[in-house]
Amino acid sequence: RAKKDGGACFRFFSADMNRIVQERVSLETALREAIRLGQLQLHYQPQVSGNGTRDLHGVEALLRWQHPELGIIAPAQFIPMAEECGLIDELTGWVLGQACAQLAHWRRDGLSVPRVSLNMSAINFRDTDLSAQVARTLREHGLAPDDLIIEITESTMLDPDPDVLGNLEAIYAMGVRLSLDDFGTGYSSLSHLHRLPIYELKLDQSFVSDIDSSAIARTLITSVLRIGESLGMAVVAEGVETGSQQRFLAEQGCPILQGFLFSAPMPADELGRWLQGNDLAAAGSN
Ligand code: C2E
Ligand code: MG
Ligand code: MG
Ligand code: MG
Repeated sequence: RAKKDGGACFRFFSADMNRIVQERVSLETALREAIRLGQLQLHYQPQVSGNGTRDLHGVEALLRWQHPELGIIAPAQFIPMAEECGLIDELTGWVLGQACAQLAHWRRDGLSVPRVSLNMSAINFRDTDLSAQVARTLREHGLAPDDLIIEITESTMLDPDPDVLGNLEAIYAMGVRLSLDDFGTGYSSLSHLHRLPIYELKLDQSFVSDIDSSAIARTLITSVLRIGESLGMAVVAEGVETGSQQRFLAEQGCPILQGFLFSAPMPADELGRWLQGNDLAAAGSN
């Protein structure tokens, strides 16, 4: 769509960028270059079990753009533009390949990383090749379908395009699990839960950040955990930053925790060191 009206992709995604990047270089060109020049990176954030052992449950791959002049650019600054410019399929393809290669690499190095989660945009599911691409990529890296979790948002489930449903069903049928990201922030969340085979709910970090200050947030979290439990879905609490948030979530039986308290997203080669430290922290807290 944005492609047809031409000028849209010549907008810039921040004032900084506007100043520094050459005026004639569109975001589209810059992003294509970023892929070609290896300026994109995945950082990985651990997800740990909420039962006190802090066992590594998996990692979430989060995209970063390491720009030579601007430094690290967060995905919120360029993913929406990539979606508008028709570049998101290429980006997601890169993320998928990179994350799968990295998981295989960690395992060859003897690190036991149970699975990797990655984020996909609603628009990605309109690509009729998506599910086949997922299957090909897993095969290429010798991974099993349950090594991969694909995080989607409610907007994906609400997209009326029949290709979207076809992809979701094909991905589920091959055994790749779907996770519903930012759960609780969309609308009519509950009415859509039964439409799709969702494996996991990611409780949005806005609820977690209000644990200490809001009884309503605590009640909503407890309710989401019950919903997950009764529907047989895993629940991940996102954005866990403090010990008191962790304690509340543990008391309520939240199975999986993710947040700065355990680790910020980090480059792949730091995971080994983090795992050693995490083992010590878990031993210390017992
Ligand atoms: P998300 O998938 O909900 O990811 C969680 C975000 O919260 C990440 O921001 C993460 O760095 C941040 N975070 C993690 N722990 C904490 C914490 O304890 N406190 C706080 N305040 N924040 C925490 P990030 O990496 O900037 O990503 C933002 C969003 O960009 C993601 O939200 C996701 O929607 C999107 N995104 C990231 N990578 C990709 C990608 O490869 N493809 C697509 N389509 N979207 C992506
Ligand atoms: Mg996510
Ligand atoms: Mg494709
Ligand atoms: Mg989220």
